[in-house]
Amino acid sequence: MNTVTTNVPSRTRVLVLGGGPAGATAAAFLARAGIEVTLIERDVFPRYHIGESLLPSCLEIVELLGARELLDQQGFQRKPGAYLEWKGEQWTLDFGELRGNYQHSYQVPRAEFDHMLLKHAATQGVRVFEGTAVRQLDFDGERPIAAQWEQKATGAQGTIGFDFLIDATGRHGIMANRYLKNRRFHEVFRNVAIWGYWNDVERLPAPRDGAIAVSSIPHGWIWAIPFSDGRMSVGVVIHKDAYQEALRTKTLPELYRDAIASSSLMTRMMAPGTLNSELKVEQDYSYAAESFAGPGYMLAGDAACFLDPLLSTGVHLAMYSGMLAAASIGSTLRGEVSEREGLDYYEASYRDAYLRFLVFVAAFYETRGKEGYFDTAGKLSNFEVDPRNMRRAFLNLVSGLEDLAEAEQTSAHLMGEMKRRIRENLDLRKDKSQLQQAGVKAKAEANAQFFDGIEGLASLSPRNGFNGLYVRTEPHVRLARVAECMAAGAASGELQPAHAGV
Ligand SMILES: Cc1cc2nc3c(=O)[nH]c(=O)nc-3n(C[C@H](O)[C@H](O)[C@H](O)COP(=O)(O)OP(=O)(O)OC[C@H]3O[C@@H](n4cnc5c(N)ncnc54)[C@H](O)[C@@H]3O)c2cc1C
Repeated sequence: MNTVTTNVPSRTRVLVLGGGPAGATAAAFLARAGIEVTLIERDVFPRYHIGESLLPSCLEIVELLGARELLDQQGFQRKPGAYLEWKGEQWTLDFGELRGNYQHSYQVPRAEFDHMLLKHAATQGVRVFEGTAVRQLDFDGERPIAAQWEQKATGAQGTIGFDFLIDATGRHGIMANRYLKNRRFHEVFRNVAIWGYWNDVERLPAPRDGAIAVSSIPHGWIWAIPFSDGRMSVGVVIHKDAYQEALRTKTLPELYRDAIASSSLMTRMMAPGTLNSELKVEQDYSYAAESFAGPGYMLAGDAACFLDPLLSTGVHLAMYSGMLAAASIGSTLRGEVSEREGLDYYEASYRDAYLRFLVFVAAFYETRGKEGYFDTAGKLSNFEVDPRNMRRAFLNLVSGLEDLAEAEQTSAHLMGEMKRRIRENLDLRKDKSQLQQAGVKAKAEANAQFFDGIEGLASLSPRNGFNGLYVRTEPHVRLARVAECMAAGAASGELQPAHAGV
């Protein structure tokens, strides 16, 4: 695909900035719904990106985009789940162990995965312009109305006007950083990641040789993600304070290798291997914008928020928010909902998905951590999270929450419930033979359902509506009214499911 051309139109209905998973997903869904959409991407794909371990829900969205067959043909490493050694305990988590349609996911070199998604978007009718960076936005009051672009390779420049903007520029986050100035960093997840690529390492034993291996170390943890070409992505995540302290006496490669040496699992896996790349570093990557949408615009994927990568949630949230943005904008442009309804729906549904993961990650750290960094990482009370948002985020997940009079109590209650479930779930999986016993199986299934509510595509069910709206996927993604669904369900004697998988 050579989409570095200067034929950028002067006007489009929807402009998407950024061609990563969030932008490519949003644009492809809009194009499939027959809406004119233009996507402007700064780099020329394939381009390198971190974020290589996918959750199964990403496959579900790829399927809704009509690209599942394409994905399965790429030869990516199949990922059956995760193997964790955390504070002396060991667990194996298998996807779809007790329920769910998705028994596996993939480990993907992102250059290839993102290129596949962007090329697919172009085949769906998106006008894609690569090697084209947006330098500035023009506003009418608070509403962005045009973008000024520039192409490095040709020196060409121009302006494109639009009715709606989706900012999917990732961490760059042009709207939040440059114009809204509303990005807030999570103090408790002030982590640094250092990673590189290895050859000839020892994999986990089959059938888990495609799983992500995670190991806790003092002040942090390590990921090992295997690729189908034999390479392995190995990353060390440590708290910023520990990182700065270590760099007083060590070089970066020493810090990285010492961290690996502090995990017996990673030492064993890396022993026969060779580090075959430079080390890369990212820091201060956990944040959220105060608002995700406003007049004529939505922030999708990392442009809106990003969470510590412990549970491999980034690409899921990027693609999920891309889908939510396409549904909201599509329905607004077709007049099915007002712009205010579309913006409110997007804000509520994406923030909920994000907050559920935020509590999940925090609870995971806190459940299993007893020392050092993990003690503070899990303290939900330290988050700059409005308890009213938190309450709403969990209404569908935690029974009895409606009875809580004080919003203040919500965070503590949720954290407690989440920790209890994580603990129970992981304990059940330590001895899988127990899962065959009827009582244990029922408990494990209830937990699986609970976690599916966090990781799954909750918005596709009318039961999880916000402001009376939810997302339907037929004949294209769009917002639908829960009341109409209920009426149809009452007429036919049952509530209509929005989507077979949910
Ligand atoms: C250390 C670390 C480990 C991670 N591990 C995982 C993992 O295992 N699994 C997982 O799911 N996620 C992981 N993530 C998260 C994942 O990388 C991101 O969440 C994901 O890439 C977000 O996708 P996106 O489309 O929002 O943004 P991006 O993928 O960053 O795409 C944004 C695009 O916008 C373009 N752009 C930027 N500015 C402009 C501009 N001005 N004009 C035009 N285009 C522009 C960029 O070139 C880029 O292509 C990890 C993140 C980190 C930091």
